[in-house]
Amino acid sequence: MKIGGFLKASFVDYPGKIASVVFTQGCNLRCSFCHNAILIDTDNTAHGILPEEIFEWLAKRKGMIDSVVVTGGEPTLQPDLKVFIEELKAMSFLVKLDTNGTNPDIIRALLDDELLDFIAMDIKAPLSKYDSIAGTSQLNLSSIRESAEIIKNCDIDYEFRTTFCPELATDDIPCIILDFDLVSNYVVQNCRNSQFEKRLDNKQSLRSLVNEASALSLRGFELG
Ligand code: SF4
Repeated sequence: MKIGGFLKASFVDYPGKIASVVFTQGCNLRCSFCHNAILIDTDNTAHGILPEEIFEWLAKRKGMIDSVVVTGGEPTLQPDLKVFIEELKAMSFLVKLDTNGTNPDIIRALLDDELLDFIAMDIKAPLSKYDSIAGTSQLNLSSIRESAEIIKNCDIDYEFRTTFCPELATDDIPCIILDFDLVSNYVVQNCRNSQFEKRLDNKQSLRSLVNEASALSLRGFELG
């Protein structure tokens, strides 16, 4: 596992649980709004942390930490992700995976092996804009859709989320909902990248999204 960061305690990354957060190094997308850009380059070892260091830290905090969130970068690029999560489960931690959905086979395998307790998938854009917002022309959109279908049909807690970045228009959100046939567990979150803070109309735009989503009779539609 290439690990580029470790947050010891978080109250917001696993709903209702105290979580430690593991940030894997390397991502196959290049989203313009990425707030973890330092984690994109697979070969960046400047902040490298060994899995053993994390296991050792967690072993001393059993009973204080409920869960471990594995996020990125993109965790499903890590060849030993399964082994890493197996170790966390052996230590009796709840495990949440954050993914960009580009590797449906990995997601399916982890779910089949009952190694996850929660899964969150980013949906970057409506299909017509996916390449440009994800920053790559190499994207296999059918893989993204397949991941969404796997997650919608899984029997653990899940969440889809979209970052309302400046490249998205208000009416892109209903398009996402329709493209991915989302009926619940969907969150739209504000863009946190400071270079976009000047976009003061963001919140107002999100409010109109809620109205449009309500018109589509969505349940579980929230502002993040
Ligand atoms: S998928 Fe996530 S980590 Fe990768 S570039 Fe996009 S926002 Fe950054």
